[in-house]
Amino acid sequence: MTHPARSRPAMLQPYSPLVRYVPILLITASPFAAAESNLDRARNSIASSRLQTHVEVLADDTFEGREAGTRGGHAAAGYLVQCLQQAGLRPAGEDGSYYQHFGNGFRNVLATIRGCDPPEDSSVILVCGHFDHVGFGSRQNSYGPLGRIHNGADDNASGVAALLEIARTLASQQAGLTRSLLFVFWDGEEQGLLGSKHWLEHPTLPVSQIGLVVNVDMIGRMRDRHIEVLGTRTGFRLRQLISRQNVGVDLQIDFDWELKANSDHYPFAERGTPALMFHTGLHDDYHRPSDDTHLLNIAGLEQITRLLVNVLWETCRPSPAIRFRANWQDESDSQRNQLEAEASRQPPRLGIQWDPADISAGLRVSSVTRDSPAAKAGLQPNDLVVALDGRKITDSQGFQRSILSHSSPVVLSVRSPSGSDVFPLTVALRGTPRRFGISWRNDEAEPGVAILTRVDVGSAAAAAGLRVADRLYEVSGNQWSSGEQLAQWLNRLSAPLPLLVERDGRLKIVVLEERITSTDSLSPKHNPR
Ligand SMILES: [Zn+2]
Repeated sequence: MTHPARSRPAMLQPYSPLVRYVPILLITASPFAAAESNLDRARNSIASSRLQTHVEVLADDTFEGREAGTRGGHAAAGYLVQCLQQAGLRPAGEDGSYYQHFGNGFRNVLATIRGCDPPEDSSVILVCGHFDHVGFGSRQNSYGPLGRIHNGADDNASGVAALLEIARTLASQQAGLTRSLLFVFWDGEEQGLLGSKHWLEHPTLPVSQIGLVVNVDMIGRMRDRHIEVLGTRTGFRLRQLISRQNVGVDLQIDFDWELKANSDHYPFAERGTPALMFHTGLHDDYHRPSDDTHLLNIAGLEQITRLLVNVLWETCRPSPAIRFRANWQDESDSQRNQLEAEASRQPPRLGIQWDPADISAGLRVSSVTRDSPAAKAGLQPNDLVVALDGRKITDSQGFQRSILSHSSPVVLSVRSPSGSDVFPLTVALRGTPRRFGISWRNDEAEPGVAILTRVDVGSAAAAAGLRVADRLYEVSGNQWSSGEQLAQWLNRLSAPLPLLVERDGRLKIVVLEERITSTDSLSPKHNPR
């Protein structure tokens, strides 16, 4: 698995709950006011002490590394069933039990929380993780030393602990859930995803009924609030779904595009079900006896559990089903880099350079770009540009912004180095006005999201801290229905204009200001000597 080092975002104001309220109002009808408080109760009852206890029990030497088919593996499955029963989940295995038997004494553990108002397609959310590990280790599955108990605290007692806590909290707030949840604890994952493959061969409910798979595997080693979420390309709008649920949790999310057959989400994605995996990265103790409880970040595990509860809650609401996206198979991280790449630089709209240090008398032109609109209009080095549309220039950045957003032509007031008179010069600007200085492209997997491909130097967008590859979700609290509509809004809506922007799974409000060069009229009083 790849772990690209990503720079930490350094922008902007946090997305305040007050502002969050606006889009929620747009999406949510009033009957769900009660459901919101159910969600709050579920989230507030998540406890790191219970997560810690689950990990300690599962990663204790008594379970001898939880190898599939061994007494340790069986004992671990027994612990899961006990917890699920206590939490009030119904059995969803064979013959009214929590188990699905397969292979050489292997057992998947299944339980369900029934939604109160199943949708017409009766789709179910499958949330899962593997509980088996590699026992005492072998040459095939351990980096050694062999012969010692491999407790697998991160792999995957961490994920199982989160699932147990999620099962308990959501079962206690069942009244707020529309769709049903199927919890599956896979056995035999470490031997080649045996549990999930067996389930797909012998499903306990029609596979077509699974609306989304959420798999957790190794989520106990979060560093710097950074997690990886894989599989968002297997369905439409999944990145947006997760980022919106990350508000208030505030994790930095790397949406990895590359899916590998390295955990139980994979066979589902291959068969045509949208499938996600949450993961906190590989480490030196991976598949070694040293993968122990004391090395886990339990507070981080609690944060991820909160994010998962938010995501599952949202997917269990009466929202439209998530559509599968077959194109994920053709995409890799290099396609992602292409999608997020900076667009080629636009030719300048005007084409002059000046020294921004001294603009007290106006902009002293230091050079003129060849064949640019400025050159064609006859501007020359050492000319002094004193006004734009009759307004005195007092601010270098403001002048840049005015040129970017101005319709063509523009009238500059210019004083040549030899003359003392100011003369008007009409310049036909190149290209279309770029009021705030951004360009974007669409992402077929995320309809209604614009990925920034250019942020013009000196633009309002640059001043607000926007960057290439930032995702635009909303303008003034609204979602657009087409690229044309977004372009219209950006051209016509009055500033200051609040944008909802996502970077690395975090939402921020960014306010674009519109400042014209100067409001001083070029009256005789202000006329420079
Ligand atoms: Zn493993």
